[in-house]
Amino acid sequence: MNPAETFEQLLKEVQAYLPGENPELLHKAFLFSHLSHQEQKRAGGDPFIVHPLAVARTLADMHMDIPTLAAGLLHDVLEDTSCTRENFRKEFGDEILHLVEGVTKIDSMEHLAPNPSLKDLFSSNPEIIRQAENWRKMMIATAQDIRVILLKLADRKHNMETLEFLAPEKRKKIAEETISLYAPLAQRMGMYQLKSQLEDLSFKFLEPEIYAELDAKISAVREHRKEFLDRCVKKIESMLAEHPYSYRISARPKNIYSVYRKMVRQNKTFEEIQDLAGIRIITDSVEHCYALLGVIHTNFVPVAETFTDYISMPKTNLYQSLHTTVNLPGNEIVEVQIRTEEMHHICEFGLAAHYRYKQTGGGAYKNRTVADSVDDKLDWIKRILEWQQETDHPKDFLDGLRTELEFDQIFVFTPKGKVIKLPAGSTPVDFAYAVHTDLGNQCMGAKVNDKMVRLDTHLKSGDRCEILTRKGQEPHKDWLEFVKTPRARSKIRKVLKDKGKA
Ligand code: MN
Repeated sequence: MNPAETFEQLLKEVQAYLPGENPELLHKAFLFSHLSHQEQKRAGGDPFIVHPLAVARTLADMHMDIPTLAAGLLHDVLEDTSCTRENFRKEFGDEILHLVEGVTKIDSMEHLAPNPSLKDLFSSNPEIIRQAENWRKMMIATAQDIRVILLKLADRKHNMETLEFLAPEKRKKIAEETISLYAPLAQRMGMYQLKSQLEDLSFKFLEPEIYAELDAKISAVREHRKEFLDRCVKKIESMLAEHPYSYRISARPKNIYSVYRKMVRQNKTFEEIQDLAGIRIITDSVEHCYALLGVIHTNFVPVAETFTDYISMPKTNLYQSLHTTVNLPGNEIVEVQIRTEEMHHICEFGLAAHYRYKQTGGGAYKNRTVADSVDDKLDWIKRILEWQQETDHPKDFLDGLRTELEFDQIFVFTPKGKVIKLPAGSTPVDFAYAVHTDLGNQCMGAKVNDKMVRLDTHLKSGDRCEILTRKGQEPHKDWLEFVKTPRARSKIRKVLKDKGKA
């Protein structure tokens, strides 16, 4: 398909979800980008314009607004062509300029100047410094405008889809960055589909042999698995027939990388992994979610410790659902997720859905938990920016970012019943610093559920943690060995550093 045809298709798609909006800006952006990149080709030999068009298409799939789509079409103009910032501003204005600048990489070392703490670190790996600075810049731009990260994710998706055309060395580097930072970021934004795509694309390049083997194995059992799930669906439908709830039900495949991760985590072979797919039930209200869960648990035996209630305790990325794994007759097990239409919508679109909601002025959210958390959805990005200011080492920043993006969250209670969200593997020291810096600094012991514990104990969801303090107490260097959160790490380092100076 030629670029003009691809663009026409994009316009059609946009007009379907934004009827009545003037697409003139998109025309202009397309022509400008086409002209600016005219002399360039993608690594695979395609005309360059194919790339910005693909990025804009992904953004249209997320139902983004016209300025974001225009920025998608123009996102490489400042970085890769002779177009100047001033000229760009004159043509497209500040809003689109800021979006494009947010995703434009810092390529020259001179641009590192804004962070003075980095100046004495030029002896360390310039590649890591550059990568850390790019991420730092992008997070700052994202804290100001979340559309920046959506653009960057769409950009990365197409770059991953065309990765085969790059040199092997470069491929590996990009795939590694994608799987360790971009995929978790997409997940953290609640964009599950994009996250799975990025993971599988990266995995294919990082572990081509394992990928091919798993891909073949999954295809081989797909038919059998489908029959099994169809049977499950029929069974559940017949059980629910006499109940008055409205619902729809669907089977849900797992992506290749998540199957692999499960094999590694549980030290199992492919043949031992049972839940290659699961079942999802979508209904109309929260009450009905719990009612349906009741029906499922009455009819099937739940597998111990598999039930998780992400409705009353949403994940940090606002994900909500009930999860349970049950035994079916014949000793087969299947995971069942239950959620409302609204929760499902948020799972599909993630942050993009929140952005749209904010734009249209809301009212669409019946669910208060979600409506409330939409407002502070950028909190974790601000938290990243806060601790990174105390981090001198670019590598620490990247490691910290990885931890911060990590998916598994636990909920720990203060003695007064306040919920503190922490990454899995967090210790009482992480908990103390999450509550308050002073509490962390003066921490000398901890009680979990009224029992004294070691400070390196791993907390679990639902634990009640009490920190014992003493005035004049100081953080131990040893704590750095076991703390999980970047916040605790940077606070401890700071005290140790200040003390060293005194
Ligand atoms: Mn690009």
